[in-house]
Amino acid sequence: MPFELPPLPYAASALEPVIDEATMNLHHGKHHAAYVTNLNAALKDHANLAALSLDDLLRAVNTKVPEGIRAAVRNNAGGHSNHSMFWKIMRPSGGGGGGVPSPFAQALDQQLGGLEAFKAKFNDAGLKRFGSGWAWLVLRAGKLEVISTANQDSPIMEGLYPVMGNDVWEHAYYLKYQNRRGDYLSAWWNVVNWEEVARRYDAGMKS
Ligand code: MN
Repeated sequence: MPFELPPLPYAASALEPVIDEATMNLHHGKHHAAYVTNLNAALKDHANLAALSLDDLLRAVNTKVPEGIRAAVRNNAGGHSNHSMFWKIMRPSGGGGGGVPSPFAQALDQQLGGLEAFKAKFNDAGLKRFGSGWAWLVLRAGKLEVISTANQDSPIMEGLYPVMGNDVWEHAYYLKYQNRRGDYLSAWWNVVNWEEVARRYDAGMKS
């Protein structure tokens, strides 16, 4: 099988109380696992596509991927990519109090009016995403931009570089927050791994 479920980089309980252990177990062990299983199933008879990197597969979704499996690849390759990033850009609450490293912090200041203005814009994008989807901070031609996507669509499909994203599907928060998506979005900042986000920003600027 070409694609595999990556292990969580911490215990399922590590993000308590912001994200509860039951949500993490279901989210990683069932939802993300299903995206991987379904992606591999969709690519079963397409060895040329299964040989691509996940990023290249996403970039090719509207060109090289045949229509018969396009929706399955879009949803499940997107889901696999989005969640693989998501686990890594979080860390235990209070576990790394170093603030936001530069040059990422400087770019936030110069392009989005600083960390607090960015958070407000990002939360707004997550709140306004109707139904299921993601809020994102992306690089578009080297500039930071806040967007949202529907379902499991990845910014990579649009030629953008995802610096960070938050999952606003109900499966990400409903057990603990029920319908209060705004509360989840606000609390989530307490488990963001800024070192990893800044590393992604640096990598995106070089790519
Ligand atoms: Mn999810």
